[in-house]
Amino acid sequence: MLGYNDSELSNKIFQIRQKSLNRYRGDFIRRPVKFWLERDRLLNKVGTSLVVILATRGCSWALSDKGGCSMCGYIYDTPITVPDSESLIKQFDLAYDACRSVEDSLAVKIFTSGSFLDELEIPKAVREAIFKKIASDERVEEVIVETRPQYVNYEILSECHDILRDIYLEIGIGLETSNDEIRNHYINKGFNLNEFERAVSIANKSGVGVKSYILIKPPFLREREAIIDSIWSAEYSFKIGVNSISFNPCTVHRGTLVEYLWNQGKYRPPWLWSVIEILKIISKNLTKNKRLICSLVGIGSEKGPHNCGKCDKRIKDLLAEFTLNQNPEVLLKAECDCKNEWRDYCEDEFIWNRTPNKYK
Ligand code: SF4
Ligand SMILES: [Zn+2]
Repeated sequence: MLGYNDSELSNKIFQIRQKSLNRYRGDFIRRPVKFWLERDRLLNKVGTSLVVILATRGCSWALSDKGGCSMCGYIYDTPITVPDSESLIKQFDLAYDACRSVEDSLAVKIFTSGSFLDELEIPKAVREAIFKKIASDERVEEVIVETRPQYVNYEILSECHDILRDIYLEIGIGLETSNDEIRNHYINKGFNLNEFERAVSIANKSGVGVKSYILIKPPFLREREAIIDSIWSAEYSFKIGVNSISFNPCTVHRGTLVEYLWNQGKYRPPWLWSVIEILKIISKNLTKNKRLICSLVGIGSEKGPHNCGKCDKRIKDLLAEFTLNQNPEVLLKAECDCKNEWRDYCEDEFIWNRTPNKYK
């Protein structure tokens, strides 16, 4: 069996979620989950990002009776008590102080472990207060938020645009894969390509950029299938008008279906060689106003994307360098004997049988 069917999958995720929600969540509402400054890739240059993860009520999809996505444990970062508007604004103000002395071009990335445009998580008044603060800061060139596609509409984007004016706004959407079956039967994402395309089209017409997050190696996919799936998903994303692609090599979060599979030896996070292969191919399509980002989360750990252990740190540094400068040549510097082991791992009859001819 390759995966659960829809209801089996979401029932299983829901059960795991319910057990873990009380176990892992803390109770704090007046400080963000995390915030930090980092050297980062802005749309067409290198700059500084302020990254803020606000503690909200959490992702409505993860809190629903569908249980959320099979690999996602961000809901456990959210507090048990739902923060009121005043607390949310306080959280943002606290984090914003961190960038007081930055003189560089600035991007502000606001994450919520859910959807920034979901007004149950971030009420309209909070969104407006946050954006007004950002708009009054001349250093800010970009604002990036994340949302599920159902919260994207003309009205909300034009309200955002009216406040931010000439600051570039980008909405990150967890497309994960361009394959509806993988997205809904293996990831339990709960939306189809047509919903994603509707959101991209509204954003494009509203002068708002889109970033698609692509999950490298969803559960139930073999390594080679996962490589092909990510390549196709990225090609598709650029084709339909996405500006940025963020590859997220899957990590094993606690309290998720992926962790449940991993505990039984039924899931291995992707090899870093797979990540490099995907980036090498997709970076050929890079043009102005497009960027490719690779998440470095968990790299080198047993529960994160890894190779043999000896080369992981070096490859992590190369991936960071690639993201910053968008120069694919740095990817060619990756070398290690474990590449042969990875090749063997990818050679699997089962995979070959299911691989479309184009990639054989
Ligand atoms: S991946 Fe996004 S949509 Fe899915 S459960 Fe996590 S926060 Fe919610
Ligand atoms: Zn190695």
